[in-house]
Amino acid sequence: VGYTDFDLNPQGVKEIELIKRWRLEPKPQDLAKYKRGELVEPIKPIIFYIDPATPKKWIPYLKAGVDDWAKAFEKAGFKNAVMAKEAPSFKQDSTWSIDDARHSAIVYKPSEIANASGPSISDPRSGEIMESHINWFHNVQKLVHDWYMIQTAAVDTRARKMTFSDELMGDLIRFVSSHEVGHTLGLRHNYGSSSTVPTELLRDKKWVEANGHTPSIMDYARFNYVAQPEDKISPKGLYPRIGDYDKWAIEWGYKYFPETKNAEQEVPILNKMTIESAKNRRLWFGTETNPDDPHSQNEDLSDNAMKASTYGIKNLKVILTNLPEWTKEPADGYANLENMYGQLTTQFGRYMGHVAKNIGGIYENPKTVEQAGSVYERTPAATQKEAMTFLDTQLFKTPTWLLNKPILDNISQDGLEVVGRLQNTTINRILSTSTLTKLISAEALDGASAYKITDLFADLNGSIFSELKANQPIDVYRRNLQKLYVDKL
Ligand SMILES: [Zn+2]
Repeated sequence: VGYTDFDLNPQGVKEIELIKRWRLEPKPQDLAKYKRGELVEPIKPIIFYIDPATPKKWIPYLKAGVDDWAKAFEKAGFKNAVMAKEAPSFKQDSTWSIDDARHSAIVYKPSEIANASGPSISDPRSGEIMESHINWFHNVQKLVHDWYMIQTAAVDTRARKMTFSDELMGDLIRFVSSHEVGHTLGLRHNYGSSSTVPTELLRDKKWVEANGHTPSIMDYARFNYVAQPEDKISPKGLYPRIGDYDKWAIEWGYKYFPETKNAEQEVPILNKMTIESAKNRRLWFGTETNPDDPHSQNEDLSDNAMKASTYGIKNLKVILTNLPEWTKEPADGYANLENMYGQLTTQFGRYMGHVAKNIGGIYENPKTVEQAGSVYERTPAATQKEAMTFLDTQLFKTPTWLLNKPILDNISQDGLEVVGRLQNTTINRILSTSTLTKLISAEALDGASAYKITDLFADLNGSIFSELKANQPIDVYRRNLQKLYVDKL
């Protein structure tokens, strides 16, 4: 939140930006303890009530999703700072209402919307959060079901069906609850977090089970799709969790500084914490609004999209072959199969997008003036070349494995169209004015070391018209690709 201040700059205006946070203060009698570094309870803890209309079996998981944050607040010096409670019954408290703006709640909405959201009301002058009513729509269960199946079913046998066990669905609901609660504590999406993890660590059972596949639950990192069946990674290494970044962000936002009198006096202390955090890449924050930075992407994993996507596709191949079996329900048609085939091709499309963003990529590392190094840096030419090689292998050479006849014969999807759509989206992206302009600018700035616009077209022509040089016949899929490409020129 923020406001425009007309006093601070005598010759103009100053935009004031504030973080959103709850008022969390030690009790006056505990102040000495707090200063000594002992954990103390805040005067007013953050309490989320669970909507009494919530299906009973999900309540423990929703509560756990809230309570999981308590550990993060210990970094800021508070214990029992955040908790979930079941709503009091009419008998216990006849004045309690979920619509009362003095309470915060996780509200169950019997809706077909496949999502959840964590809004909050805050004072624009101070950023103080007054209350929050989190929306969890019933059908968010479909969203997490489909993601979990498409991303982990090659590894987790529990994901190989259309209706998950209550235990598995409960765990997924707990993750959604934690993520939305994170928003209501003032945290934004950290799309960059997952990019701080080397790809191979996501396959290291011991490491990933101990650390999680991304340092932030506020990333859109979903589930560990890099893990391979032979890695034998348990759900601990597949689910997102409140991680190093989240704990650090809570400490940064909620640490109480008794010696400061106002927000301005906190700025130098917080700046020091920020500079200190730059030493640990796991605490890095990447915005959700940067269209150019391949580190900051949603639904992606690890520091290398080419490697991560290759592993993801290996898993998709296993899943695709088994899809008719895993989506089958007695006395039902092929709607499940059609839906999940659609989810699978969408996931494949995401992998293409993660890789394509490297072409013309510009890394952004926000810094204060006290920090060394530059804010903007172009993706190395070798990485961009690696991205083009990936697209040549996985997308422009027809991904024939997607053209699974037993599946396509039973659903109303046309293989030529499916492949064409995926190729078209990526070609549109790498031939967009924005990407081409960035390549020209990079050449102007970096000269010979840049991945140039001429390199891009040489690579595209070489890949899409490879048959011409080899004097090979051109099949219908490749003719379709060539037409799509030429259309854009
Ligand atoms: Zn979110």
